[in-house]
Amino acid sequence: MRVAFIDLGSGKYEVREIDAQGPVSLGLKVHEEAQSWRLDPYDPASPLVIGMGQFVGGRLIGVHRLVAVFRSPMTGNLHSSAMGGAAYKFMGAGIDAYVVTGKAPRPAVVLASQEGITIEHVEPTYSYGGLKGVYAFTKYLYDRYRDFFTKNNARAVVVGPGAWSTYNGALASIDLTPKGELAKGAEDFAARGGPGSAAARGHNLAAIIAGGKARARHPEVLDIHRIDEVIKAKLKKPYLETLNEKTVKYRFDPSMGTGGTFGVNYQHYRDLLPLFGYKSIYMDREERIRHVDAILRLFWKPFNELVFEKARSWYNCGEPCPVTCKKVWNGKKVDYEPFHAMGPFIGVYTFEDSVKLVDEVDADGLDAIEAGTRRGLALRRRV
Ligand code: SF4
Repeated sequence: MRVAFIDLGSGKYEVREIDAQGPVSLGLKVHEEAQSWRLDPYDPASPLVIGMGQFVGGRLIGVHRLVAVFRSPMTGNLHSSAMGGAAYKFMGAGIDAYVVTGKAPRPAVVLASQEGITIEHVEPTYSYGGLKGVYAFTKYLYDRYRDFFTKNNARAVVVGPGAWSTYNGALASIDLTPKGELAKGAEDFAARGGPGSAAARGHNLAAIIAGGKARARHPEVLDIHRIDEVIKAKLKKPYLETLNEKTVKYRFDPSMGTGGTFGVNYQHYRDLLPLFGYKSIYMDREERIRHVDAILRLFWKPFNELVFEKARSWYNCGEPCPVTCKKVWNGKKVDYEPFHAMGPFIGVYTFEDSVKLVDEVDADGLDAIEAGTRRGLALRRRV
């Protein structure tokens, strides 16, 4: 792998070839070498690894994820957390992974392209252009580095305000259209375990922006006939046919008249949905059915009507993927896990209220699933 080792303490970096299969094995290797188990998760010597796998740049779909490996400030353990789509633009810099150590004297923004890496000091701006939190900071960075973004077709990974003051800050990446507008649906978070807090509080890292023209790492991933051969040998069907068949739930399931995790899970799990901080396990079945009937009417139906019946508001994560699993309701990307955590799980049955809660947590750059399952009741009082 082609790895950029960035020391934010000294402001120096070097790019080296490292023998590792992917970001997780690279993460294990550098953490072992740094003996990070001896360190506090916020110790600047504890590396933050952000990288992509070797299948990027070819005909395979769903492989353009960015994976962070870090000591989790929440659990203390070595943790990995991934976000969809962001590597589709990040691969252009020709760097497979970033290993960040050291702590910048002021919040740092790393800009990476095929021409090299620069480190700038930028105070994060979380209110800008009518936007807030990670959305505002992303737009601010675009306006500030417009030439870099447009020349390199770049994408930013940022931390939000929550990363500087809590232990469960996420790494957030909102893709931009060619005109510099925030792209609908293509907002991705690597959130579990607090990688954003590790970046912000351990290294003073506010953002990495990367892009360029580099593409496939291995020519084999460009060869659709070879890919078909491998998939047919295992699954008896060509690659795209298999992909379409296995992703029906995420695109649109005609048998259910809905799609995406949010659309399908409510219909599928019904009275098995966990409610009220899991206390629903003590309710009898009739009571759980009464609750799920209310949830389907107040929570699921408004989403389904707009996203599937009135319009086809489906998008991808930033890589050109036919699954378009990102279902967008009035501009807000809706997934089952964060909406359930900030919705029925904490007793919020009205979809519109849950949208406000998830939007607030997302803008703060926090983990909405974590916030709902641990802190949801406290946040609910703020809206
Ligand atoms: S659009 Fe959805 S299914 Fe397709 S690659 Fe992105 S996250 Fe995966």
